[in-house]
Amino acid sequence: MAYITINKENYFYNLNECLKHINNNIDNFVLILKDNAYGHGLLQISNLALEFGINFIALKNQNEAEEVKNKFKNILLLSQLAQDYESNENYILGINSLDYFNYTKKNDKIMLKLNTGMNRNGLQINELKQAIKIIKEQKLRFLGAYTHFSSPNNIDKQKKLYKEYCTYLQDNYDEKLFFHSSNSSAVFLNKNDDLAARCGLAQFGFCDVEANLKPVMSLYAQKLSSRTIQKDEIIGYDERFKATKSMLVSTYDLGYADGLIYKENIKIKNNIKILGKISMDSFVCESNQNELCIFDNAYEFAKEFNTTVYEIFVRLNQNIKKIII
Ligand SMILES: *Cc1c(COP(=O)(O)O)cnc(C)c1O
Repeated sequence: MAYITINKENYFYNLNECLKHINNNIDNFVLILKDNAYGHGLLQISNLALEFGINFIALKNQNEAEEVKNKFKNILLLSQLAQDYESNENYILGINSLDYFNYTKKNDKIMLKLNTGMNRNGLQINELKQAIKIIKEQKLRFLGAYTHFSSPNNIDKQKKLYKEYCTYLQDNYDEKLFFHSSNSSAVFLNKNDDLAARCGLAQFGFCDVEANLKPVMSLYAQKLSSRTIQKDEIIGYDERFKATKSMLVSTYDLGYADGLIYKENIKIKNNIKILGKISMDSFVCESNQNELCIFDNAYEFAKEFNTTVYEIFVRLNQNIKKIII
């Protein structure tokens, strides 16, 4: 069966690299594990994170959180629909607009998302007064606020506004608030004045800016069958590969249903070419090896598709077996 290996030593190394940028203060570190921990396996990665000492994670919504809800004290839900929200002692609802307060209930833990220019989610500065008023009226547990940067190029501009928001909020609320803004690239650019971080990709060994990190995931497929084909014979759907010589080929158990992107003529690790079209559950290579490594560096593989490592990772079918090494 196709499988993924997770390199624990590299994973811990990357977490330590992230922490170095926030004075090793793990309490100010929010580990993003959304989308099946970027395809690495939520259950496996959350167990490693716990072993490392992480107690604050962020996920997409309560559906994702169900699997780990008793493991972490703080689980920030970034994209939870307010009308479906069922609160839990460990959940922190990310407030993406004032409308969310139509559904919040007494004692709910919340953090405010602040829109500082990305215009995806969050409150505007002129909505903060109203937000604080409602928080007090509804007796919500207001823990902090955060913003998100649209790219490394926009950080300085957004940060200026972010600081104004933070000052306003803390000046108008008695308890100490936790403010965080930096994703992986902002952390490694050292643009995190708040000495807090919200890292996703970096824990898995990649970053959009220079960072000394190590890949965590390798993807392997195993051989289903082999055959020798003759010159002029074809392989696969729509006859997209035709042999120019006699060759020994094998079929491996990974296809686009497992998350491989459907594209012809791609190369996997060691420059081995996939012959013809990828099938739903398999592909063919000129090889007789019992197993092939698809990639041990997702960045190299992503280049084959002109896409990002984010996309390569999150497409991977969550049923692919994970082995911690
Ligand atoms: C996904 C996400 C992150 C993590 O971003 P990386 O670039 O993977 O570090 C941080 N904050 C928010 C709000 C996100 O949605």
